[in-house]
Amino acid sequence: MIKILISSCLLGNNCKWNGRNNGREIIMSIKDKVEFIPVCSEVLGGLPIPRIPSEIVGKRVINEINLDVTNQFLEGAEKVLQIAKENNVKYAIFKERSPSCGVHQIYNGKFKRIVKKGKGITTKLLEKNGIRVYSDEEIEMLIKHQID
Ligand code: SF4
Repeated sequence: MIKILISSCLLGNNCKWNGRNNGREIIMSIKDKVEFIPVCSEVLGGLPIPRIPSEIVGKRVINEINLDVTNQFLEGAEKVLQIAKENNVKYAIFKERSPSCGVHQIYNGKFKRIVKKGKGITTKLLEKNGIRVYSDEEIEMLIKHQID
């Protein structure tokens, strides 16, 4: 069975900054065909649930009260990479627009919910290490190419 790393919040786990989740019906529909390995890099990096939302500002990650949480994001990303390597994972499904998990888009660093082109910290690290990361908005593509 194909192993897929997945943003834990997409599986319905309440690890989002506001203590909620991003559960998706389509993910539930393929859960018997794949082995999901849930990860939340922000929690793995030591941030609490709930937490103050963060955005990428230049090369740093800053939260809404202006605290620098870059180190926690980097540590979480390294832990996710380690989990991926231990499990020999080649694919991931990550939550679009998150400063950790975004694949094509992130928020623009002004905390106004405006998006721009860019990748989350963990996504960048995984892609650098040869893991193909799909966003949750591309699941149909992953199913077509890798699962069916
Ligand atoms: S870091 Fe990723 S897995 Fe964790 S809540 Fe944010 S989007 Fe979901």
